[in-house]
Amino acid sequence: MKFDQLSLSAPLLRALSDLGYENPTPIQAKAIPHVVTGRDLFGCAQTGTGKTAAFALPILEQLQASGLKAAPGKPVVLVLAPTRELALQIEESFRDYGKYLKLRSTVVFGGVSQHRQVEALRRGCDILIATPGRLLDLMEQNLLSLNAVKYFVLDEADRMLDMGFIHDMKKVIARLPKEKQTCFFSATVPAEVKTLSETLLQNPVRVSVDPENSTTDLVNQELYKVSKEDKRALLKHLLQDRQIDHALVFTRTKRGADRVARDLVKSGIPAEAIHGDKSQPAREKALDGFKNRRLRVLVATDIAARGIDVDRLSHVINFEIPEVAETYVHRIGRTGRAGKGGIAISFCTEEEMPYVRSIQKLINKSIPAFKHPYAQ
Ligand code: AMP
Repeated sequence: MKFDQLSLSAPLLRALSDLGYENPTPIQAKAIPHVVTGRDLFGCAQTGTGKTAAFALPILEQLQASGLKAAPGKPVVLVLAPTRELALQIEESFRDYGKYLKLRSTVVFGGVSQHRQVEALRRGCDILIATPGRLLDLMEQNLLSLNAVKYFVLDEADRMLDMGFIHDMKKVIARLPKEKQTCFFSATVPAEVKTLSETLLQNPVRVSVDPENSTTDLVNQELYKVSKEDKRALLKHLLQDRQIDHALVFTRTKRGADRVARDLVKSGIPAEAIHGDKSQPAREKALDGFKNRRLRVLVATDIAARGIDVDRLSHVINFEIPEVAETYVHRIGRTGRAGKGGIAISFCTEEEMPYVRSIQKLINKSIPAFKHPYAQ
């Protein structure tokens, strides 16, 4: 199955090809042909399965075809996500996929000043990605109305409930027009999620994909306890000692990615960093270098690493432990693809141990700790 068999138009296909996506993931192949015709969707899938594109592509396609344009403060697409991190990732996906369309998207979440968010809404945004609390806040101040919403996505419904957003979610849902298309996603389906989905969806297509855990089972996972100061030395040691010839290294920040790459180059290891501050041509050049093995190491932030689909990626190294457990699963899912095993190495300071514990809970196994010369 190829993307061009999914009734998507040329600007979307071009954007996907720019991102290096070759084939749709199972959830995309199953969902897109129905969502693009206006059907509601119930998707049982975790992050890492490609679920964002499964709803973003058919929504962009329909929005473009309809010619609808948002009036100030009245978005046409609303995506509700539980966390700021996820909301930002979804917005970046809409931007990436819609880069050849003239559509405007924006993201609103709490914990920061609302000024810039309000400005963006006033200028008019077709696609709004929001966390529930800030969305309601803005609605109560009459800065935003949901009257014009035609496409509604509720992402990670189970996590929304876990985080205590049920009342906020219900308030938002009550303000949406009756006539709309809804895509509903949840990794698990406890009774509350089922009830909520029944109130929202009409004759939905149901698509379920295997949890990522089956992928994580294929990956050999190793934990290296190390101080923050020794992480770079440990990385060089492992790259030499273990004869790792091709590794994707994840850092939490853009600056961190630059620092790690610079340090490796200084030691004679061909490496480059990719992150959001680098131009598209620079990112592509680094990615090509990594794909054709000119570069041994690519250092990336999570957002920049989206769409990296490299065959035979043998090693993923978590230079820092991600704060969100699903991000770990998603990162290590990049090795051991398509039934092949890979190795995931995680560097962990004392302060990062709580994140490791929540990862272990999610993947339902413990990650063995390895001895090394920099162990404390
Ligand atoms: P998601 O589950 O939506 O968070 O997506 C997981 C990751 O897979 C993201 O980094 C996407 O950019 C990437 N991705 C989604 N669809 C594809 C595809 N068809 N081919 C390659 N990468 C993809």
